[in-house]
Amino acid sequence: MRDWKFNGVDFSTFPYYSGNDLGVSYTKEKTNIRVWAPTAKEVELRIYKHSIEGEAIRIDQFTRFDNGTWIFSLNGDLNGFYYTIRVNDGEWLNETPGVDARAVGANGHRGLIFDPEETNPEGWLEDKRVECLNPVDAIIYEVHVRDFSIATSSGMTNKGKYLAFTEQGTLSPQGLKTGIDHLKELGVTHVHLLPVSDFSTVDENAPDNSYNWGYDPQNFNAPEGSYATDPKTTSRITELKMLVQSLHQAGIGVVLDVVYNHTALTRRSCFNQTVPGYYYRQKPDGSFSNASGCGNEIATERSMVRKYILDSLCYWVTEFHIDGVRFDLMGIFDLDTMNQIRSKMNAISPEILLYGEGWAADSSPFDETQRAIKTNVSRLDRIAVFNDDFRDGIKGNNFNPRSKGFVSGQTVQEETIKFGITAACFHPQIVYGYVDRSKSPWAKEPWQCVNYASCHDNFTLYDKLVMSSSVASDEEINRMVMMAGALVITSQGIPFLHAGVEMARTKLGDHNSYKSPDNINQIDWNRKHTFSGIFKYYQSLIRLRKNHPAFRMRSSDQIREHLIFSDDYMPGVASYVLVNHANGDEWRTILIVFNGNTHSIQFPKKKHISWRLVCMDNTIDEESTIYPEGKEIEVPGISMMILVED
Ligand code: CA
Repeated sequence: MRDWKFNGVDFSTFPYYSGNDLGVSYTKEKTNIRVWAPTAKEVELRIYKHSIEGEAIRIDQFTRFDNGTWIFSLNGDLNGFYYTIRVNDGEWLNETPGVDARAVGANGHRGLIFDPEETNPEGWLEDKRVECLNPVDAIIYEVHVRDFSIATSSGMTNKGKYLAFTEQGTLSPQGLKTGIDHLKELGVTHVHLLPVSDFSTVDENAPDNSYNWGYDPQNFNAPEGSYATDPKTTSRITELKMLVQSLHQAGIGVVLDVVYNHTALTRRSCFNQTVPGYYYRQKPDGSFSNASGCGNEIATERSMVRKYILDSLCYWVTEFHIDGVRFDLMGIFDLDTMNQIRSKMNAISPEILLYGEGWAADSSPFDETQRAIKTNVSRLDRIAVFNDDFRDGIKGNNFNPRSKGFVSGQTVQEETIKFGITAACFHPQIVYGYVDRSKSPWAKEPWQCVNYASCHDNFTLYDKLVMSSSVASDEEINRMVMMAGALVITSQGIPFLHAGVEMARTKLGDHNSYKSPDNINQIDWNRKHTFSGIFKYYQSLIRLRKNHPAFRMRSSDQIREHLIFSDDYMPGVASYVLVNHANGDEWRTILIVFNGNTHSIQFPKKKHISWRLVCMDNTIDEESTIYPEGKEIEVPGISMMILVED
């Protein structure tokens, strides 16, 4: 019996294979398969007629070739046949689709040989990525494929499927726009999909029986089958391409959430069943380390692991015309791999967005100073991390349901709010000792910082505010949801919204809904009507950001030059001016005041300036012709106010 410990194995001596033909290479005349398996003594190929059931119709032996690879060639047109690979490295391991499979049968146990050209929807060759000149121009909307459409109130036909994103003209029961029409109406620039590469938990033959977010990766290069109309076939590829094409036609980019930091299975993963131990980091005793908190962590620094991730990303981004990538637990990745990813992406398009979670879930044997954690983000080129300091400053500690933040009246969060407004870049007017958690700026440039108030993890913004503000009225909670959006969307950096926040999404108080049923996770589109004021406000915030480059400054030097905080301290208030046509804005001066108190405040304004009132009490009118008189202006409780000088 194998002990699955790797004491004394020097993985750095394993041969490197630089070719681009790992996995299946298909033509109508023949199919070549190449596997990297340097520890193997024998490698077998089995061909099957069916996706799951039935015996192999033939079994062949791969031939050992260069740099640890094994090859086999089959003559004839194998389109539509399934295959597995089985390695013997002294004992026989399990059958798997290998590590490179781009299409798989139902539930991902067998690879599928296919003709890539046949997976292109009509018009695919004309499909293009959206323009995004600078990451701070993006407004990201994070959504789970199934949550988007599964509710009855979605009005969509392809519930829970990729194809729901291709449906136009869909309406909620109250006749409001849903689906892709809703996204267009809201104005977001990028849709970030929770993982769509093959994951293991949901039975693809009975997807309604279970739910999962998808952070349980199985086959990294194949799309998930439970979102496809037929998991046995290449519909999982074609329909994901149709999703991308439909969003692109709406002017919206697509970001994929990738989970290369770990695999759902450890010993039985495709990686360990092909080259045992190689793809994972080990503890000093030779056992698998676990910085992902899921039983293992990928050794991104090893040459063939790094190549695997680079090849995989290039495949997804090129084949599916992807506009950006979000890295789950990016803090597990080594910095060199991340910078190589950036340079590979630049060769495809420098506009591709890259961002991730700048942390790991547990300790790692790999030196933290060399990993892509938040405090090392300044060493990464055009890669951003999530600003969890701002997130918690806005609404209170993410993990403690009772804790409050700036929008719920916690008056010690002003410096943390300023930290978010400046995208975690150094600004001389911030007293870093008072910032909650990070005691120094960690971003060098604003495109290194993703600002958000909530995401799929933890309580929804609305649930968190309801739980932490037991005495607040419904109206006050709504105002808090709106002010959180105002903070995220007007701040420097990259704004990020959790899908449904614009209609006060609830998960009924579930803080970790990764496998909770649809009634918890679904977007309830009825709420677009119930919370129509919140929706309209988020829509107007997004319009404001798009119309005004002052909210999207390109560099921290620009921010330090054009953004000045008010000197007078008022508890529960954060305010600043953007001066001298910041970043080429048509507005000369913009004064922004956030009042986190429940009561209104009198805010002093310079009298000699002819201020125009653009935002008051959760209403934005960029064309307003109201010129308030006097030395002071009243800012209502829990709201943002904006005055401009044209
Ligand atoms: Ca799956």
